[in-house]
Amino acid sequence: MINFTVGPVQSPPEVLALGQQHVPYFRTPEFSRVMLENENLIKTFAKAPTDARVVFLTGSGTASMESVVMNVLGAEDKVLLINGGSFGQRFHELCELHGIAFEEIRLPTGKALTAEHLTPYENRGFTAFLVNIHETSTGVRYNPDVIQDFCRRNGLLLVVDAISSFLADEFRMEDWGVDVMITGSQKALACPPGISVIVLSAVAVERIEKHPTKSMYLDLKSALKNGERGQTPFTPAVGTLLQINARLKAMEAQGGVETETAKIAAIAQDFRSRIASLPLDIASEAMSNAVTPLMTRNCSAYDIFTVLKDEYGIWVCPNGGELSERIFRVGHIGALTCEDNTRLIDALQDLADRGILK
Ligand SMILES: *Cc1c(COP(=O)(O)O)cnc(C)c1O
Repeated sequence: MINFTVGPVQSPPEVLALGQQHVPYFRTPEFSRVMLENENLIKTFAKAPTDARVVFLTGSGTASMESVVMNVLGAEDKVLLINGGSFGQRFHELCELHGIAFEEIRLPTGKALTAEHLTPYENRGFTAFLVNIHETSTGVRYNPDVIQDFCRRNGLLLVVDAISSFLADEFRMEDWGVDVMITGSQKALACPPGISVIVLSAVAVERIEKHPTKSMYLDLKSALKNGERGQTPFTPAVGTLLQINARLKAMEAQGGVETETAKIAAIAQDFRSRIASLPLDIASEAMSNAVTPLMTRNCSAYDIFTVLKDEYGIWVCPNGGELSERIFRVGHIGALTCEDNTRLIDALQDLADRGILK
């Protein structure tokens, strides 16, 4: 099996090796040291300010999205959010559920975000901006310059779901004025699912301290307090946190975030340069290095996903909902190589020769 989905993805050897070991007890100075090291390396890779804090929540990315909406935002806020697909829609639903006032900019499938989209929202009393910097469902990466300019001009708190973009694309938390960055263990971190990560600026931490939160498990105040000594309020996914530690240290030894991003970019570039002769069209105006969204012309995209899985042992990522027949996605994150790309291209060519991909 080769896994070209967008998560969970294939793990590198240092992560796989730890998966075979017993999970240790965690209320120890040894585990606290691992957690503090994780915090520092995430901050370094996110280019976060030195006074930023990191919370590791046991829960998938959505747990962190929800806890940020609950802890960082409040009744005094008026949020502007970008809704260009199912992850933008998730922020919409979370704001609705938690009674946060918001307006949204809906983008058609595959469309890039431009400064013109934001112009009507200047000086309208917004206090915060929520965005999935890479809307993984459609494979569109929003321009961080357009977003940071708008947020600075309007004095907005900037919350970025970078779950599928962190490590795959450039990310500069401090330079871009990002207050909250969210990522997850099963995307470019290439670990098993179960941990999501929230990086918080000093301003975001201050907001958390002053908001009462009606949740025990998703309360970031207790997570931050325990995090000061490298601990968590409840039993975390200890094994996954150890795998994250091994992965972060391996990346650091190989040259850091720039090396990792360049590697993912090269694999994406290689794949994209080899699909020209196939009856497929790229379905995004602005791609992340993490994913190539492909539109089929005269066949069902979901059928292509199924045949690749069942007959070739290759997993691509099907789309959900109304896009399922039109778009499938090829991920470039996780332990993949250009030779893996060759196997996928050969399989797609074979499907075209057989008249299935058309
Ligand atoms: C994967 C992903 C999430 C989180 O999904 P979970 O299934 O909860 O891990 C959120 N936002 C984006 C942009 C994603 O790619």
